[in-house]
Amino acid sequence: MTTTLILVDGSAPGAGDPTFRVGLVGWPVEHSVSPAMHNAAFDALDLNWRYFPLPTPPNQVDVTLAKIREQGYRGANVTLPHKRAVMPYLDELTGAARAIGAVNTILADGARLVGHNTDGDGFLVALREASLDPSGQSALVLGAGGGARSVIYALAQAGCSVTVHNRTVERATSLVQDMQGACLQPDGSWLTQAASLQDLDLDAYSLLVNTTSVGMWPNADASPWPETLAMPPNWTVYDLVYNPEDTCLLSRARAAGAAPVRGLGMLVHQGALAFELWTGQAAPVEVMYAAAREALGPMDRRAQIGERKMQGDG
Ligand code: NAP
Repeated sequence: MTTTLILVDGSAPGAGDPTFRVGLVGWPVEHSVSPAMHNAAFDALDLNWRYFPLPTPPNQVDVTLAKIREQGYRGANVTLPHKRAVMPYLDELTGAARAIGAVNTILADGARLVGHNTDGDGFLVALREASLDPSGQSALVLGAGGGARSVIYALAQAGCSVTVHNRTVERATSLVQDMQGACLQPDGSWLTQAASLQDLDLDAYSLLVNTTSVGMWPNADASPWPETLAMPPNWTVYDLVYNPEDTCLLSRARAAGAAPVRGLGMLVHQGALAFELWTGQAAPVEVMYAAAREALGPMDRRAQIGERKMQGDG
């Protein structure tokens, strides 16, 4: 009996096919810059690898994971809304993936699929690229979603204390409960919650991280920082929003004399760390930055053609 191999993307392999495949599990995935970023990196290193979008409706996560195994994919990235949903289908999870409670990268180790999370380390590399070492500092984190969990995990690993503030207070409460014990800081007081920004002693912090989606295209005029609250000039302000690259929050930080840092660095470095896990080679980070910027494209061109190219996180 002969078996016909059909790839996850629906095609059959043929001459000129890549030696190794990786993919992106998400829904939707058309908006993602990751295929452009990784394929540019493979090309730059002359690797016969290809990165394929693997659009996966919510009830099909098991099917895509089974195909990744059966078709010998070397790994995958995972994006919204499946970062938690893939976890039961993996053979092993790293400590970071467990503590964050989400997987953004899968590495195929033979027949075993191992779930990693490179978002937190990608954030730390991006901070250090901007000459910021968070160890021993205090950070104020806005938001309590998936991005916040990665950032807070990374800050905990770096020995930074964190206060989290979120629009929905209960979500921040449950994040604090989950993460206090899951990260390697002995004293639970490293992670606290603030119901109101106005009541905080802002001078006690040196780093503000926006992990909310406020300010993301097409609502680029919005800022997650209250109009009426002055921002201390000695702060570094990191915005996870990278579309647009220069957000309203970062303009506000600049105007206050604080140091703004753009979110594209975290996107590129989480990708670079995934690339290194899959290929074992150093990622061409500058190539990945250029490809990500090219894929995002100028804001006005997107607005003109009315494209619904929303920002995802991968
Ligand atoms: P998520 O899990 O859906 O969380 C969204 C967060 O934004 C929640 O805390 C939510 O608060 C808050 N929020 C949404 N609208 C708000 C509003 N109008 N006012 C105040 N708070 C609001 O999303 P996520 O995965 O964490 O992603 C959040 C952002 O980070 C997105 O822009 C994403 O693209 C970006 N991101 C970037 C990177 C990167 O590599 N640079 C990585 C990850 C994420 P509630 O709980 O009250 O709803």
